[in-house]
Amino acid sequence: MTERLDHFIGGEHAAPADGAYFESTNPATLEVLYEAARGTAEDVDRAVASAQAAFASPAWAGLTATKRGHLLRRLGDLIGENADQLAMMESLDNGKLLREMRGQMRSLPEYYYYYAGLADKIQGAQVPTTSLEILNYTQREPLGVVGTITPWNSPLTLTTSKIAPALAAGNTVVIKPSEYTSRTVLRLAELAYEAGFPAGAVNVVTGFGGEAGAPLVSHPALAKISFTGSTATGSRIAAEAAARFIGCTLELGGKSPNIVFDDANVANAAMGVVAGIYAAAGQTCIAGSRVFAHKAVYDELLERVTERARSIRIGDPLGDDTELGPLAFADQLAKVDSYVKLGAEEGATVHAGGGRPDGLELPGYFYSPTVLTDVDNDMRVVREEIFGPVAAIMPFEHEDELVGLANDTEYGLAAGVWTQNLARAHRMARRLDAGTIWVNTYRAMSPMSPRQGFKSSGVGIEHGIESMHEYTRLKSVWINTDEGPVADPFVMRG
Ligand code: NAD
Repeated sequence: MTERLDHFIGGEHAAPADGAYFESTNPATLEVLYEAARGTAEDVDRAVASAQAAFASPAWAGLTATKRGHLLRRLGDLIGENADQLAMMESLDNGKLLREMRGQMRSLPEYYYYYAGLADKIQGAQVPTTSLEILNYTQREPLGVVGTITPWNSPLTLTTSKIAPALAAGNTVVIKPSEYTSRTVLRLAELAYEAGFPAGAVNVVTGFGGEAGAPLVSHPALAKISFTGSTATGSRIAAEAAARFIGCTLELGGKSPNIVFDDANVANAAMGVVAGIYAAAGQTCIAGSRVFAHKAVYDELLERVTERARSIRIGDPLGDDTELGPLAFADQLAKVDSYVKLGAEEGATVHAGGGRPDGLELPGYFYSPTVLTDVDNDMRVVREEIFGPVAAIMPFEHEDELVGLANDTEYGLAAGVWTQNLARAHRMARRLDAGTIWVNTYRAMSPMSPRQGFKSSGVGIEHGIESMHEYTRLKSVWINTDEGPVADPFVMRG
């Protein structure tokens, strides 16, 4: 019989209120892995109530910030001890390479250690005012119950980017993971409980966006929503949050330029292009899907990228030498393929890839690493996020022209620059309209480094000290130290 996974609410597994479950399948083999609880508004109510009770409880509210830090550190340790098991679970669930997920899981404790260290450094300030008799200071307080909603491409890492600072600041959380990857997030909640977080501090309701995600966003007791996912869903969530005046942090889609100048080390740049678009089968928000190559190096870059794209080892994501696994689910495969066909209709040349790889025994949702040429910035394949292993490679001649092309997008998540010219590197960092700029590297990331999506790629900041502020509110306290008589009650003091 297929294994069943329940929600995790109030420190224990909780069956769905209406008894419904849904299947999660392995995208490489199409085997059913498990069934997860199909959450509804009733389950969300229970989870939020549990998080509310925990937020107010002495077991949580009574902890010093240093003690919250200890709990986060312990959770980081437990994740480290379970890293290989968690990596296997994620790889089976979303088809990403086991090697990559192992790397992610082994470095995940660093996120918890980082925010553990920050927990007792959330400080207010004493503020000078225009009166010597007034003592004014600020303090930062937790918000209450924070809801998090995340996609399937890096389930635990993306959830951690939200809950680690939220918990460090003293909030409690209700997590709604992607319907494609419920398992590791449920395991995370178990580990948090094992680490000593009180019941109700970390809750998980699994299920679909409309059925479990939407009731979480609109729950009247929610103090904040932190979302990572598509720009379309993010826009709906932002509207809901605005209507209720609650804060939202949004990490959304991208169509990032990866730019190769004529003074670049072209061999390294080609590997950077490959990493930017074919790692994780292109299913990353930061995918470098628009490649701009200077005319002088265009042919060489195209040849190198094409050669590597054609030789990528495609297959079982659990294999030690596999380089490209399947896409995560059937609709994703259909979407990627329809974009490549649309590109061809728009006049693009499918220079490499396109379609299912030949000779593959696994039945899953595999798609060949694809290179599109003869493309321009007006085509939909260049403007819209494909979220698959599809690179559009375009030539450019002048820097000003390039900056115009690179910035001509609704997105502003990231950009890669390949150049040996230091002045140009800094100039491009200033001129490119994206929240993260990589020079002579791509996909580098750290919990210590804040990041923000510009334009339609997001609202608010994740990672770094800055993200702590996303999970606190600021209170200003005024104390009159003058005990003499009030001379004039109609004149404000400050
Ligand atoms: P999605 O927006 O379809 O789903 C994301 C999450 O939102 C899922 O958990 C889903 O169940 C939930 N959801 C869907 N509709 C909802 C609704 N009406 N109310 C509440 N929740 C709802 O995105 P996806 O296809 O799962 O993920 C891919 C997208 O995520 C891409 O656009 C990618 O760029 C983006 N992404 C962004 C980042 C980043 O840091 N900027 C990181 C990873 C992925």
